[in-house]
Amino acid sequence: AISVSDILRTTSRAVPQKTAIVDEIGSLSYFEFDATVDRLAAGLQRHGITAGDRVAYLLWNQRELLFSYFAIARLGALTVSLNFRLTPEELSYQLVAAECKAIIVDRDLAELASKAISISKLSILQIVAGAEARPGQLGFADLSRGVADDIPQFPTVGADADSGIWFTSGTTGRPKGAVVKHRSAVAAATLSAIALGFPEEVRSLAVAPLFHRGATENFALPVILCGGTNFLRKRFDAAQTLENLEKYRIQLAFIVPTMAWQLVQEPSAENRTLPHLTHWISASAPLPPVLAERIQERFKLPNGVTNAYGITEMLFVSRCPPDMLTKKPGTAGLPAPCTQVVIHDEKRGILPNGEIGEILISGPTGFSYYLNDRQATREAIVNLNGTAWYRSGDVGVIDADGYLAIKDRKKDMIISGGENIYCAEVELLLIDHPSIREVAVVGVPDEKWGEIVVAAIVSAKDAVVDLDQIVKSCSSLASYKRPREVVCLETLPRNSFGKVRKDLVREMVRERIE
Ligand code: ATP
Repeated sequence: AISVSDILRTTSRAVPQKTAIVDEIGSLSYFEFDATVDRLAAGLQRHGITAGDRVAYLLWNQRELLFSYFAIARLGALTVSLNFRLTPEELSYQLVAAECKAIIVDRDLAELASKAISISKLSILQIVAGAEARPGQLGFADLSRGVADDIPQFPTVGADADSGIWFTSGTTGRPKGAVVKHRSAVAAATLSAIALGFPEEVRSLAVAPLFHRGATENFALPVILCGGTNFLRKRFDAAQTLENLEKYRIQLAFIVPTMAWQLVQEPSAENRTLPHLTHWISASAPLPPVLAERIQERFKLPNGVTNAYGITEMLFVSRCPPDMLTKKPGTAGLPAPCTQVVIHDEKRGILPNGEIGEILISGPTGFSYYLNDRQATREAIVNLNGTAWYRSGDVGVIDADGYLAIKDRKKDMIISGGENIYCAEVELLLIDHPSIREVAVVGVPDEKWGEIVVAAIVSAKDAVVDLDQIVKSCSSLASYKRPREVVCLETLPRNSFGKVRKDLVREMVRERIE
């Protein structure tokens, strides 16, 4: 396949009657899926959408998201996948930056979309899924009505055409729009299927939100490539997720660490094993070894948990097979096929194994450039020895066996008295403490040391917290790495993917200790 739309077309021709999607509404065969995408693409075309246009969607994990993804791609237009947890102002920023011509929304998100459109002052065609359209909107069904028997010719979409604009999570600042080509999306699906060993006709539950590039192109798309079934549930609910994993004998699921914590703590998880779930894939944030153990204890997975490392700009960098996770705790494993990872230092260049520096990645799943931001693009992509490398902004180390470990984000690394301190190291120790449920370690400015280490914790249920004892429990760390202060918070601020917003933690901590 050379375009994402070809992936669906090829599978639909090969296994037209196979079940492609199962959701709250029912099930759909590959033939029906592909035909619906044709009708939707024709409908969009009738409303003036052509190659190069940008079309947004604001949807839950629902069938219309997959219809939209493929229909927009089929026209050679670009998908702009929006995060339903953003505010109208944040959504408006993305609609304007991407110059969207149309937006496809779920009825429950239509009000949010309307507010965003009104702030943006753009004139945007609004298509609503699952409801009667209101004045000024178009119903999802109306759009494709009347084109059923008259599918026009769609343009040929080449591998080098742009397929989408994917906004990053915004963990370290304002989300950046990464422009991606069809070739990168197809590579992401293919690499993921091969490196994670997707079973043929795999049954996969979309647990993490599909609006993230990784969830769509590393999971939903390779499922289609393998002729498997995507099980969709609009919103994440721990009890319901467990029920579905069991009921549908799900084999593969992409579950981010915050969701995994909720699943192991869910009361109905007691005495519930998941013998069919051969592929529990964790990605998007560090997987603490204690969490991997808890998952295994609780659900008795046949193969344990796989930890994968991926970034919106460079999907699927590496993965660690479950057996190596216990041998090398915290590792993100070996690079994916056709992908190279090196550790780099601005002054010393590419570093030998065992030395810590910035993780640079070169591979076929990479983005082309940041939307409207040449400066950020220049800073993110560097040329070394004739190869273009993506600077991940993560700090890591490769061991003698070639296994990568992610130490920290460069922006979060603490420098105290001239020594580098990687927050993840301190966090991994503290998360094992019985009175701590969640922890985030940050650096706070200090006149003498430059920065000092402070741990923000959320206490475990019913725990009596002894802050001095918590500091003392870090005695296995070198003294400069130990927290000088421990601050209790009600919750940790997180972004939509459950990642801790360290910038906000730093502010909260500074308010408490000043
Ligand atoms: P922004 O770039 O807008 O600040 P973001 O970096 O969170 O947001 P994403 O592309 O969603 O945007 O996340 C990629 C980052 O997630 C990686 O750079 C890395 O820091 C982290 N990450 C992903 N997978 C793992 C993993 N398995 N272990 C540790 N960290 C991970």
